Amino acid sequence: MQLKTILNRVQKFKSFVYGNVQWMESHGELALLIEIVARVHSSPICSGCGRRRPGYDSLPPRLFEFVPLWGIAVFFIYAMRRVNCPRCGVKVETVPWADGKHMLTKTYMHFLASWAKRLSWKETAVAFRTTWEKVFHSVEWAVQWGLAHRDLSNVRSIGVDEVLWHRGHKYLTVVYQIDSECRRLLWVGKDRTIKTLLRFFRTFGKERSAQLLFICSDMWKPYLKVIAKKASQAIHVLDRFHIVMHMNKAIDEVRAQETRELKAKGLNPVLTHSRWCLLKRPENLTSKQEVKLIDLLRYNLRAVRSYLLKEDFQFFWEYISPFWAGEFLDLWCRRVMRSRIEPMKKVARMLRSHRELLLNWFRAKKTISGGVVEGFNNRLKLTTRKSYGFRTFRAAEVALYHTLGDLPEPECIHKFC
Ligand SMILES: [Zn+2]
Repeated sequence: MQLKTILNRVQKFKSFVYGNVQWMESHGELALLIEIVARVHSSPICSGCGRRRPGYDSLPPRLFEFVPLWGIAVFFIYAMRRVNCPRCGVKVETVPWADGKHMLTKTYMHFLASWAKRLSWKETAVAFRTTWEKVFHSVEWAVQWGLAHRDLSNVRSIGVDEVLWHRGHKYLTVVYQIDSECRRLLWVGKDRTIKTLLRFFRTFGKERSAQLLFICSDMWKPYLKVIAKKASQAIHVLDRFHIVMHMNKAIDEVRAQETRELKAKGLNPVLTHSRWCLLKRPENLTSKQEVKLIDLLRYNLRAVRSYLLKEDFQFFWEYISPFWAGEFLDLWCRRVMRSRIEPMKKVARMLRSHRELLLNWFRAKKTISGGVVEGFNNRLKLTTRKSYGFRTFRAAEVALYHTLGDLPEPECIHKFC
């Protein structure tokens, strides 16, 4: 069987045929060179308007990298024709195997991009003896295709969140779709300012924004402002995960300060090694941590009282009616305000000023789950950790869409991987 027979089976192009196959040397290694020839009497397609037009001339032959075969690099060689188009003038033709000036064939880019979902970009480059840049361009191409072809008509609930990147120095704003039937990353933007989120709503469009039913977010002010302005019809929910995070931060602060005070007074440092006892849910504690917690509870420490307040607040989420949840919230806040523990009072003040948004959780409870955003953020951290190459925003953006965007892929007759 000839190589041409296999190629015609896995990658056949209308109006083109495979010609000679020969060996060539590329960077000191053997490679296969496969000639592509236009069918006789077929006229080229104008890249400007997409119509068949009379030929003008031919450019010097060009190489296009294809999927490697048995560890051997494979190149197509083809002399691009130029067309004489009455509408666009003299233009280079479009060919079905490549896009614009890309040196990689679409199939090869698709192939690399698929592997880049399973391996890091660097690992993909090493495995297929190519470069990081080529993998990056392939993923970028796949992402652009996916973004252009995705369907956004069914988005009803979104979650907005901020995440750290660039070794924890900078913020990204991420928007997820969190409908139960479709969960994916919709958008990534630099920073976490009013402008950032406004950019999302601009790309998302007025019509789609008007169809949003639920929006879930953190208490970050710029987000609250933009959401109120751009999608006021949607029920805006503050999600549980972020509120627990704020409380844990407060407890951490109280504990650290109190530990310092105890040390200064030369007292027994009961609070050392207690961090996780106070931050974890009781059911998640190890038996050693459980003993430590029971020990801690004997002391009337501010950190311990904060912990008990946080644990008490868990009951809030069990309510069904927004009214009774509201009563509980008010009572809890009053208790905290009397506690004289400043970091916890700060949390209570924050919850009080967002009372209505908090109660929206009960109005939306059956339809959205706050855990989705948390789950996405964990996957996002994994993605950024896996790729050492994220020195630029563009690389981070492309990688996140690629792994979390659930983007559609072009249909191929043959699956190369
Ligand atoms: Zn044209």
